[in-house]
Amino acid sequence: MKYALLRLNNRDFWVRLEGDQAFELSSAPWESEARDVRRVAFDSETKFLPPCTPTKIVCVGKNYREHVKELHPGEEAPAEPLLFLKPPSALLPPDGIILMPPESQRVDFEGELGVVIGRKLSRPSLDEARAGIFGYTPANDVTARDLQKKDGQWTRGKGFDTFCPVGPYLSTEDPGKGMITTRVNGQVRQQSPLSLMVHSPAEIVRYVAGIMTLLPGDLILTGTPEGVGPLGDGDVVEVEIEGIGVLRNSVKARG
Ligand code: MG
Repeated sequence: MKYALLRLNNRDFWVRLEGDQAFELSSAPWESEARDVRRVAFDSETKFLPPCTPTKIVCVGKNYREHVKELHPGEEAPAEPLLFLKPPSALLPPDGIILMPPESQRVDFEGELGVVIGRKLSRPSLDEARAGIFGYTPANDVTARDLQKKDGQWTRGKGFDTFCPVGPYLSTEDPGKGMITTRVNGQVRQQSPLSLMVHSPAEIVRYVAGIMTLLPGDLILTGTPEGVGPLGDGDVVEVEIEGIGVLRNSVKARG
């Protein structure tokens, strides 16, 4: 099943997608009482929002071996997930514009599989963690690489407004055997089977929720494969998760 969070006439609501039809839901799709309330017709005013409502965005670094090699030659992928946070204020809708801050000379794309939590999780078992995942969505962990390196920790380099594009679709189907592909101006820059992740989504969720309680709507980014590179003014960057959809954003230098 696929879902999306829409904005129309200043009202935000969830829809269930079926073929080319959309049905408004009475609540977020992970709520047990969620039901169809009406059919929705799309028009040019309909905007997709990031399909999540996170109290926190928890990200994993170095979760694909080939990416560890390209950025940290000689280093092994960490035995436990390496976590950092992005602020929810960094969220950007599909079709939103990634703004490159003047403080950075190098803003990179990082195509990633996003995981949205569907139930409250605190110190879960692996099975409980797996059952607590509501769905999957394309995401881009936009990174000011020069600031990330300069600061030695990642809050600034990962935390600028617009640095977390997500969406448009949230799929409840596990894309585990599919591909993740990132394109810049139509050219493939990253492409990897999701199965090459070091720590699986369920393992990551179990690990994270062993530290901080995860709540419905929270977002986890599961790391990027090799091929990361810089974005420039006017670029269009796309992250595609096979079977789910394409997240497309343009890039602008912020004056
Ligand atoms: Mg990343």
